[in-house]
Amino acid sequence: MTPVELAVCKALAFRASKSFCIAGLPPGDLYLQKMILTQCAVCATDLGLTLGKKCGRCSTRYCGPECQVQHWKEGGHDKLCKPIKKAGGAEQYNANKKYTEAVAVAAESCAEDTKGQTCYICTQAVHWKTKEGLVRGCACRGTAGFAHVSCLAEQAKILFAEAEENNLDAKARNERWARWSSCSLCEQEYHGVVRCALGWACWKTYVGRPEADEVRCLAMGTLGNGLSYAKRLAEALVVNEAELSIRRRLWTHEEDMLVVQGNLAGTYLQLGRIEDGLSMQRDVYSGRLKLNGEEHEESLREAFNYASLLRQLKRFEECKALLRRTLPVSRRVLGEGSETTLRMGCIYGWALCDDPAATLEDLREAVTTLEDVERTARRVLGGAHPHTKLIGQRLGEARKKVQN
Ligand SMILES: [Zn+2]
Ligand SMILES: [Zn+2]
Ligand SMILES: [Zn+2]
Ligand SMILES: [Zn+2]
Repeated sequence: MTPVELAVCKALAFRASKSFCIAGLPPGDLYLQKMILTQCAVCATDLGLTLGKKCGRCSTRYCGPECQVQHWKEGGHDKLCKPIKKAGGAEQYNANKKYTEAVAVAAESCAEDTKGQTCYICTQAVHWKTKEGLVRGCACRGTAGFAHVSCLAEQAKILFAEAEENNLDAKARNERWARWSSCSLCEQEYHGVVRCALGWACWKTYVGRPEADEVRCLAMGTLGNGLSYAKRLAEALVVNEAELSIRRRLWTHEEDMLVVQGNLAGTYLQLGRIEDGLSMQRDVYSGRLKLNGEEHEESLREAFNYASLLRQLKRFEECKALLRRTLPVSRRVLGEGSETTLRMGCIYGWALCDDPAATLEDLREAVTTLEDVERTARRVLGGAHPHTKLIGQRLGEARKKVQN
């Protein structure tokens, strides 16, 4: 790679990072899908990225000849092989299929909210080609921001292709890549199932590139984040691990590794594998401090992630001590309204309130902290945003504790 491309990679990877969801530990969807296709299509044996054998025509993967023969004879592969090959191979076929499913899920879950609205990109209610319905999963309010996932994806694809064709600099590429995960109108990140559908859209767009292509790898990161926003954690884990192992094989930039390890730690955490998550997260945070210093946005984000873990493990003293050090820095460097500051404030208030050793003074501090955070969240994200709702809920709990 040329030095310019390298700089772009780093900047892009930087964007691909994410924070944990403040919602804590959902049970997760443990149905393990065959995706990013690291398993035998018949018996689901884990093949990593290279083991086993592939169908010579369509690249569907098997642990060995027995499963392959069985799939052909009894698994319907004799009929599916051709359409899979025509779609561009097993990964592309899977990505297309998953994308269509994810769009349907997103449109369905937004149906109530989008009734009677039209897409701000194509101006129609129903997409002319795919017939999909509308979604909205950012911080847009009123009649703003309704769109088709396909239209959002098409826009992101064209914008990023332009940046690649014209060799735009890292900053411009970065901004355009962000269209895969955040709204161009309100500039907030998409959440939930909309984020997931865009993750599949992104992966479907770049999966056909060579494995060593950095953009393909970034797309994998975008998909992993999307899945985890939609709480499809078992699938997110497969994607995170695949990305980490591809990166380990192809690149060794410390920064890229930290991003991917951070995502993996987040997935472990959400899957309830707390000890795995904690040790990986501790490494990521200290890696960030070494690489970027304590005032850097990514260091602060990882400080939040680490604090969030400590809170879940009920290690309240360590959690509060970390946030007392880092929250003021985040306020000063990133601003009150930044997502990291909001999340840090929420966790801090929550930790103060949850600690069984909390004094009345601690509880009062929890209430004032959460009141501030909620006010800011309302202003920046709007009252209907899931973060704002969650913060409101925590505030209610804290107030109750003060009264008792
Ligand atoms: Zn098998
Ligand atoms: Zn085949
Ligand atoms: Zn549209
Ligand atoms: Zn928006």
